[in-house]
Amino acid sequence: MADVKYKRILLKLSGEALSGERGYGIDPETVNNIAAEIKEVYELGVEIAIVVGGGNLWRGEAGAKLGMERAQADYVGMLGTTMNALALQDALESHDVPTRVQTAIEMRQVAEPYVRRKAVRHLEKGRVVIFGAGTGSPYFSTDTTAALRAAEINAEAILMAKNGVDGVYSDDPRKNPDATMFEKLTHKDIIAKGLKVMDSTASTLSMDNDINLVIFNMNTSGNIKRVVLGENIGTTVEVD
Ligand code: UDP
Repeated sequence: MADVKYKRILLKLSGEALSGERGYGIDPETVNNIAAEIKEVYELGVEIAIVVGGGNLWRGEAGAKLGMERAQADYVGMLGTTMNALALQDALESHDVPTRVQTAIEMRQVAEPYVRRKAVRHLEKGRVVIFGAGTGSPYFSTDTTAALRAAEINAEAILMAKNGVDGVYSDDPRKNPDATMFEKLTHKDIIAKGLKVMDSTASTLSMDNDINLVIFNMNTSGNIKRVVLGENIGTTVEVD
């Protein structure tokens, strides 16, 4: 095995990462590029679990604002994350990376149901595991799913791949030119400084379970591999 910083990772991809230039929906070419990057990491011998979001298709909160019942709108969102999971599985398999999709809401014809021990076994056997349908419960996010699954499978870090953002900044870098990026933070810093890294449920779950995070820009190709190899990119949130 190559000299890597993390042997088991949980990669969190936002739904938007799959939509490419279009900004919505699933762009197969973009998904294919992401799969190629994941393959590079896979070839290092790293165990990879992935939580994929659904914001490129639907967000429950937005649906609720338009008059839908919130829980129902969230179920639509969870099904969206599963569509993304299946698209990613397709791209990874076209790169000869063995994968399994496990969903928190059963849909046996297209994916396995989520079973923690099975997920760990797949990882040990060298399969990339993609978790679909979030936590299976409304009112949660896929960031919270990432924190939960990372804790369950004992991932050494959550790699939070961001679209066009290099890491965690003191302020919104698109609005404030004086905003500076943090290289290292602790979970307590995030709360004390009021930084927005994840939603608060995901943030406290990560803190309470001592989960390391790396927030980095997905738009620079090769970045997932750089993080795994321990290069100093993005912002690392470590346990103090
Ligand atoms: N969702 C949910 N429970 C979960 C995870 C996700 O209800 O455990 C729903 C929620 O409606 C959310 C949508 O799925 O808006 C898509 O997930 P998210 O917004 O986290 O996607 P991302 O922003 O990462 O693309």
